[in-house]
Amino acid sequence: MPDVESLTRDFDEIRTAMWDESRPTVLAKGMIFSDKARLSRACKMHNVKECREMTVWESSPVVYKVVCRRWFWPCHWMLRASKKKTSLWKVGKYIPTHTCEMDTFNGNHFNLDIDLISLVLIPHIEASIRYKIKECITAVHQEHGHTITKRKAYLGHKRAFEIVYGNWDKSFADLPRYMAALQQFNPGTIVEWKLERIPGKPKYIFNYVVLAFKLAIDGFSHCQPVISIDDTHVYGKYDIKLLIAVAIDANGQIFPLSFSICANESQEMWTLFLNDLKEHVVKQHFSICLISDRHGGILSSMKNLSAWQEPYAYHCYHVRNLKANF
Ligand SMILES: [Zn+2]
Repeated sequence: MPDVESLTRDFDEIRTAMWDESRPTVLAKGMIFSDKARLSRACKMHNVKECREMTVWESSPVVYKVVCRRWFWPCHWMLRASKKKTSLWKVGKYIPTHTCEMDTFNGNHFNLDIDLISLVLIPHIEASIRYKIKECITAVHQEHGHTITKRKAYLGHKRAFEIVYGNWDKSFADLPRYMAALQQFNPGTIVEWKLERIPGKPKYIFNYVVLAFKLAIDGFSHCQPVISIDDTHVYGKYDIKLLIAVAIDANGQIFPLSFSICANESQEMWTLFLNDLKEHVVKQHFSICLISDRHGGILSSMKNLSAWQEPYAYHCYHVRNLKANF
């Protein structure tokens, strides 16, 4: 821990202070910041509160200088800070008064940027994953007193969401570790992958992963010999699909058997899914009634897979789908 007592004392014995996060808009000459990001944020918040706008005049690894956006007015508001040997940032020069006119900004304050907006939204998105854009605009208005545009709200929501839950690419990168953890803590759980190697590169493209919990595998013996399969879109950055197989337990309730996330809904993916379902879940069980819609990928797979043909399995169609197709 830095020695705040010595760090906040100037050579000429004028006391200075660490920036106070509970009073983020208060700035002063001599004020100390733990890093440049906090310094920049404090300057922006100060100007948002004052209904003025600032712009960055100089930004380097050791100097940060901001001036009023209407410096040509002329308005002399400015703040200059530099990085000390202790790696803390200290305000060396500060002119606190704006002489420019206040503006109404029409919902687009220059300094109320994605960084500040996401800071407001993080606790709300942590509390509810379905926090809406409209609610974002209200929350930012309550916090900073300015209405933001829908676009800013969307981008701020996106940034906050990524801070709380990670981004799409990281989620995919984390998937193998997540699946390995599921197997580690649920012994007997099956996970199968299909990845595509990028020629000439040590990288893979995700194609398919299937998951069947040990509990589902064991439980199927006690279910009715009826399996229903279906798919749905997984909306997001990538157009991937979720394939699922469920059975009906002895109590007439839906009993999930296996799940797959795959790059698309094709004959190849359905073949992989049905093969894995047979190998790991259905196993030696006989006379299974398999219910599905009439998707071409499913029909072709069923035709080609001997393990899913009579008398091992009997293929039926969802009545609802059948009705919808008439
Ligand atoms: Zn000004």
